[in-house]
Amino acid sequence: MPKALFSIVAGVALAVCSILSMAAQPDPILPRPSGPAPAVKFTIIKTGETPTRDALTWAGGSWSQKVMANHVAILVSHPSGRFLLDSGLGTQTGRHFDDQMPWWVKPLMRYQGFSPARAQLDARGEPAISRIVLTHGHWDHVAALHDFPEAEVWLTAGELDFVRTAKPPAVLPVQVNAPGIRWHTYALAPRRFGPFEQHLDLFGDGSAVLVPLFGHTPGSVGLVLTLSSGRQALFIGDVAWRVDGVTHQAPKPFISRRVVDHDAEATHDTVKLLHAIQQANPGLLIIPAHDAVVHDALGYYPRWVE
Ligand SMILES: [Zn+2]
Repeated sequence: MPKALFSIVAGVALAVCSILSMAAQPDPILPRPSGPAPAVKFTIIKTGETPTRDALTWAGGSWSQKVMANHVAILVSHPSGRFLLDSGLGTQTGRHFDDQMPWWVKPLMRYQGFSPARAQLDARGEPAISRIVLTHGHWDHVAALHDFPEAEVWLTAGELDFVRTAKPPAVLPVQVNAPGIRWHTYALAPRRFGPFEQHLDLFGDGSAVLVPLFGHTPGSVGLVLTLSSGRQALFIGDVAWRVDGVTHQAPKPFISRRVVDHDAEATHDTVKLLHAIQQANPGLLIIPAHDAVVHDALGYYPRWVE
């Protein structure tokens, strides 16, 4: 083949390959409800906080900067019902923590400013909570399940297996073995939702959608909310503890990810996906479960974000 012709053929082949590989990338734009946005809002119920260092929350953080790791439950209000995303710390957490948390973790996990979600909701006469959706089953997210005996607790079957078999410090058996907890397992439908290959549309209108966030635990999920204002929020559980981790595509610090991430490599792939979503969706609120900087900016129950 003449050299010039070879160059043309090689160039065309390269262009086709790069177009094909671009087409294989999932679209990072988050879908929106097709009709007018329903009256969806959320509020952050702060149930406690753990003082720590920036450098202990994401690889790239500062050792000199003190930060708070919040423990929260998110109350979501939709015209068809309310639910909690995670439960935060509960009325029995002190006893459970003292009895079953390993001694070597206690200094790192010690919390303060304790204020269970149930007490905060009851003080304002809120109706009973009938559903709690878990981002994942770690102890600090399930700690208040026994405070809501009326609620079904939603998680995938894989995550329920994990909750029933994992050991402290990931899961405290005393928190999850109570016979009164009404576990409800669900499966994500194998249908695409933007960049995610599976999802579960909680109300059937596209305003509150669970999506898989692989790695941190076997069945970690996130929640995409489209608020009444049209603004979107993505709750990412503990894929990253700080939004800085997503912005800089940085994992948790080395020791932390070895201890807390079920699959550290898959978790980092999810962080990279979240970064692509952050870049492609200007105005999107990315809300890690423990990032007090993000939570402080949005305010706390009874203040709602609409
Ligand atoms: Zn957590």
